Amino acid sequence: MTDLEKIVSPLLQWYDQNKRDLAWRKEVNPYKTWVSEIMLQQTRVEQVKGYYDRFLKKLPTIYDLAKVDRDNLLKIWEGLGYYQRVCNMQKMAQIVVSKYEGKIPDTYEEIIKLPGIGDYTAGAILSIAYQKKIPCVDGNVLRVITRLTLDYSDIAKEETKVKIKDELTSILPDRVGDFNQALMELGALVCLPNKPPLCTICPLKELCLAHLQKKTDQLPVKTSKLSKRKEKYTVFILHYQDQILLQKRTDQGLLAALYELPNITGHLSLKEAKAYLKAQGYHVHSIQKGNKLKHIFSHLEWDLISYSVQVLEPFPGLWVTEEERKTTYPLPTAFNRLLKGEDQNEK
Ligand code: SF4
Repeated sequence: MTDLEKIVSPLLQWYDQNKRDLAWRKEVNPYKTWVSEIMLQQTRVEQVKGYYDRFLKKLPTIYDLAKVDRDNLLKIWEGLGYYQRVCNMQKMAQIVVSKYEGKIPDTYEEIIKLPGIGDYTAGAILSIAYQKKIPCVDGNVLRVITRLTLDYSDIAKEETKVKIKDELTSILPDRVGDFNQALMELGALVCLPNKPPLCTICPLKELCLAHLQKKTDQLPVKTSKLSKRKEKYTVFILHYQDQILLQKRTDQGLLAALYELPNITGHLSLKEAKAYLKAQGYHVHSIQKGNKLKHIFSHLEWDLISYSVQVLEPFPGLWVTEEERKTTYPLPTAFNRLLKGEDQNEK
């Protein structure tokens, strides 16, 4: 038995006794595993819980997902962020329905070709839903394994992921879905990111080289990320009677196909904002400064200021009531936050 293979039994025992009670672990099938794994990408478990239940209630099968109207789909996903994920899910659902009779493929070679499926997600679906002996290597797993094996390789590098994937492939047990989830669960609950690991309660502490050599604070090694790009916008909340004006974002790029409040790049002073609105042909009755906020994406930071504007005439555009906005038009979280009156001081 290799040293790494010794982790299998204590890890599975620990998982059986300590795993979190999560909806997607109760009834496992490829569709549900896929939905949960896509939602969990770069998103906290606590946030995903409510979305997962709601998504499956509205779209219980892959056929429902394949044919749902795009606006309705984005509305279900509203607030979860990374909207390209759900657009890719729908593309994949349509392919699975048309090419695979509604059954998500059970081979790595086929599933990896589908939209939105990367190496990690392929491994998760195949191991959890189909019990195929394929590892899942995410940030949690990289952290746990590099600590266990005292490996100073840079976990930001693809070659480190490939090496760890190879090491894990050689030790995968029959309960492969549970094993993969157990490693990730240990990383989420015990071998913590950005905090000291809870080695005293870890089921692997007697096997862990970083713990035994008191070097847990040195691992994992990860090169720093590039700093976030910053973008400034002035946002207009245009009111006419009980309606506000929305517009649709383009079909490409960040937050594609969602709706938004009218906006312009840069921060305009009140005087500049008035002049801009006039030049656009808006008949302004009154204008006042609104909230401002910063909204953080993984690679980008939006710095938003806003103006609340009453107009005299409803020039052509998408005017919606509050009720319509809430039920029908998916808006990025940043705009919903502005409308809810949040500002930097309330964060
Ligand atoms: S003993 Fe500590 S460092 Fe090692 S795997 Fe467990 S929690 Fe992580």
